[in-house]
Amino acid sequence: MHKLSTALVKEYDAIFIGNVNASALARTRMAKSVLDAGRSLFRTMLQYKSDHAGVWFDEVDEAYSTQTCSCCNRRTGPKGRECLGIREWACAECGAYHHRDINAAVNILTAGRRRLAEGIPALPALGAAAEG
Ligand SMILES: [Zn+2]
Repeated sequence: MHKLSTALVKEYDAIFIGNVNASALARTRMAKSVLDAGRSLFRTMLQYKSDHAGVWFDEVDEAYSTQTCSCCNRRTGPKGRECLGIREWACAECGAYHHRDINAAVNILTAGRRRLAEGIPALPALGAAAEG
């Protein structure tokens, strides 16, 4: 994890990761892979190494990143837990052929670039956070 995170920070000026809900996934059959992957530790390494190197690091909402076609932006990908085993699919709208993880990574990168272009939203007021 140290080698990979260092290599990523050296190679890229901006790194975006999905805000996967690890505690929710831990209650599913995905639990073993989510927890064993040490995802949270890897995220922490990427964060502090990015901060140290002046690399932009951001977490983006990854909702629907696996279902959304990265070419036409329609939600034509496999849906639901029962479809987690489907690794490759073709978009019914535009015909693009996707590998599940690569398509999701492209969508996360697009979301990160959009955030960079729009600017980072201001922190919500303290009262708003308590209401949420
Ligand atoms: Zn498409």
